[in-house]
Amino acid sequence: MTLKSHYDVVIIGGAAMGSSTAFFLAMNPDFDGSVLLVERDTSFKHCSTALSVAGVRNQFSKAVNIQLSQFAAQFFKEIPGILGELGESYDPGFHENGYLYLANRQNAHVLRENHVVQEAQGADIHLLDAEAIARKFPFFHLDDIEIGAFGASGEGWYDAFGLMQAFRRAARVKGVESVEDEVVSLQRDGQRISQVVLKSGATVSAGRVVNASGRHAGLIAEMAGTTVPIEPRKRSVFIIDCRADLGQPLPLTIDPTGVFCRSEGKLFITGGTPVVDGRSDFDDFEIDYSEFDEIVWPALAHRIPAFEAIKLVDAWAGQYEYNALDQNAVIGPHTEIENFYFIAGFSGHGVQQCAAAGRGMSEMITYGEYRTIDLHELGYERIVRGEPFTEKNVI
Ligand SMILES: Cc1cc2nc3c(=O)[nH]c(=O)nc-3n(C[C@H](O)[C@H](O)[C@H](O)COP(=O)(O)OP(=O)(O)OC[C@H]3O[C@@H](n4cnc5c(N)ncnc54)[C@H](O)[C@@H]3O)c2cc1C
Repeated sequence: MTLKSHYDVVIIGGAAMGSSTAFFLAMNPDFDGSVLLVERDTSFKHCSTALSVAGVRNQFSKAVNIQLSQFAAQFFKEIPGILGELGESYDPGFHENGYLYLANRQNAHVLRENHVVQEAQGADIHLLDAEAIARKFPFFHLDDIEIGAFGASGEGWYDAFGLMQAFRRAARVKGVESVEDEVVSLQRDGQRISQVVLKSGATVSAGRVVNASGRHAGLIAEMAGTTVPIEPRKRSVFIIDCRADLGQPLPLTIDPTGVFCRSEGKLFITGGTPVVDGRSDFDDFEIDYSEFDEIVWPALAHRIPAFEAIKLVDAWAGQYEYNALDQNAVIGPHTEIENFYFIAGFSGHGVQQCAAAGRGMSEMITYGEYRTIDLHELGYERIVRGEPFTEKNVI
């Protein structure tokens, strides 16, 4: 396609965050600018959005994270109608089966503390003692468990890749232009980014530039002459089959070891945090099967005795766009480069927050302020100060 020489907004990265930002800008009647969405690989095969586990939970320790994720469940009800008016369709496929965090005596206090914050936000989270967990989910081994926190509504998993595609289609219908190309350089004019240079050789001038490049956000920041501590961190995901029937869907259960598991149709999806969790190579998608043998399977077999006899049927590796400061998103304007914005670094909880985050970004661009959820705590200022905004419930 032939690009214009200037766009009011250039968004770098067209997956969950970029497409959501484009969608909410395009849908906002108060925004009448031009938008270019630049995506270097429209197969999306290596982006975090395509390789995620697509969970949605309200069980965070920070109110703003709860609010961002709460919007997802509300939005799932609205989006089919919005798309229908544009001649498009999308079914979020929201499996509202909940999250179940399990805690032993040492970490039970964290669930209790988080529950106070969650209740204040109206989240439908219930603290259960071991007996109550056993009544509800009789397949668990619970001798070492003190309490659990279960999300009775508003939590589960959905079709995240489908939402991204729906955002892209709807944005296109509303006039957003998209190009498959790679941003290779950003030119500065004082405290502004003036030109966005693409690998094809094309150059466009930009009123505002949005860094929605996921695990590449640190590289894009460097192109702009600044830094953000977002880096790739590999996560292996395993699909298992278990002959025994649990009798009901397994909520997305998080064991005190950090291993998670949930139903995926008749199968189960599981994974954990690597013992040595450091920066990965950008293109390292090799599955670490030793994680399954040494961390995941022992934890699963301990927690659900029926899982002693399971078969590994599939696996993949994806990469978190990991904010090494505090494992939370960086959203909003840069502190010095006037027209440079971040929406990146969601560190394992982005597909549930993309709708609210993209809406917030569109508000900041259109009005210069947040009009729905106040996202200032997730702003770039804390990066400059080196002050973590620490989320206790990370997976
Ligand atoms: C294994 C795994 C499990 C996860 N599970 C969950 C979960 O259960 N729940 C949840 O909410 N989140 C989960 N996440 C996290 C979630 O997937 C991410 O937070 C979210 O997808 C981030 O979206 P993004 O658009 O920022 O990044 P990405 O999806 O990575 O997209 C960034 C895009 O930018 C493009 N790009 C990069 N550089 C350039 C450039 N120079 N020029 C043009 N384009 C560029 C890339 O090609 C890519 O398409 C998981 C992630 C992984 C890896």
